[in-house]
Amino acid sequence: MKTATLNKGKETKYLNQYPLIDEEDIYAQDHLKEGDLFNLVNDQGKYIASAYVGRQHKGIGWVLSYDKDEVINTTFFERLFETAKSEREYFYHVDGTNAFRVFNGEGDGVGGLTIDNYDGHYLIQWYSKGIHKFRYNVLSALKSVFGYTSVFEKMRFKDSEIEGGFVDGDAPEFPIVIEENFTFYNVHLNDGPMTGIFLDQREVRKKLKDQYAQDKNLLNVFSYTGAFSVVAAENAKVTTSVDLANRSRALTEENFGVNAIDPKSQYIYVMDTFDFYGYAKRHDLFYDTIVIDPPSFARNKKKTFSVLKDYDKLINGALDILAPQGTLLLCTNNSTFSLKAFKNVVNETLTAEGVDFEIVDVMGLPKDFKTHAHYKPSKYLKAIFVKVQ
Ligand code: SAH
Repeated sequence: MKTATLNKGKETKYLNQYPLIDEEDIYAQDHLKEGDLFNLVNDQGKYIASAYVGRQHKGIGWVLSYDKDEVINTTFFERLFETAKSEREYFYHVDGTNAFRVFNGEGDGVGGLTIDNYDGHYLIQWYSKGIHKFRYNVLSALKSVFGYTSVFEKMRFKDSEIEGGFVDGDAPEFPIVIEENFTFYNVHLNDGPMTGIFLDQREVRKKLKDQYAQDKNLLNVFSYTGAFSVVAAENAKVTTSVDLANRSRALTEENFGVNAIDPKSQYIYVMDTFDFYGYAKRHDLFYDTIVIDPPSFARNKKKTFSVLKDYDKLINGALDILAPQGTLLLCTNNSTFSLKAFKNVVNETLTAEGVDFEIVDVMGLPKDFKTHAHYKPSKYLKAIFVKVQ
């Protein structure tokens, strides 16, 4: 077995079950190739954990076990999948929801691997070349533990020579329609990096619909397929969706359509968010609830946008067009943007504007996106509801 030896004094972190092995903590290592299994040992050569090589973030790989004799084979994955499945019993039986995450990377014991269930169609996402080397074991375990209709895969690492796509079972015609809290969404599993719906926002969408949409004039920027608009439209007076991508219009209209909402009764703009802010201001448009759920980075014309540096601008622009007693829903899925830092930006920006405000709800990931207790970045999603006087 290959080994990686930790620098002196670095073992406590790993004895405390930190799952990602930081390259900087390693003093010496055998020649480690993607997908290799290795023992992590302290500077005295004492065994700490078994891991695989899968380069991601600042890590060279992820811990798989704390048992020196553990064999990483199909049975190993079957055992983890059985546990993951039993922890999601609720989702397999609840009415009105048939799409959820069944295996969430390090939260369920294998960093770099996620599996989602879209009404029986399973999507595997591989985050490194290394974890992809276990494809045969993972697929065999998936087949024996989960009774799926079909399996698709996506490569989430750079330089992949392998294309994702269909893997096994009865391939459906896309889009398929999934249900979440009794709302329907179109999903594509073999069309680019995204599927049409971000399942991690399930509870945020529900909260928006139940508490902040009733009879409201709602604006949703960075709207993508309009998921927040569609769920809110069931209660709202009217919704407005804004996204830069041309394809967003048709995708949003289709999502309204599958919920029997006439897309013509809602507003959809293919526009840059900041340009829309200016447009709305010039036309005296005001919104009771504004949803901001941007990507971590975006580029438009020659401008770049980064949530870490520019979130204040998004808030400021929204304030100009927020109706009195309005609500902002501010989200970020950037794992390097901590909840504390995000809250600071929200507080400082609103205080500097001199408005009266109250943070009324702070939400994170739903239970199926199981996080790792000793690895903070796994809690990447932050959603803050703010009431502004
Ligand atoms: N809020 C969405 C997810 C956003 S994904 C949801 O709930 O599903 C990011 C989206 O931001 C993409 O659709 C992309 O086209 C859009 N986008 C990127 N830069 C933009 C900009 N400057 N203005 C408006 N939309 C932008």
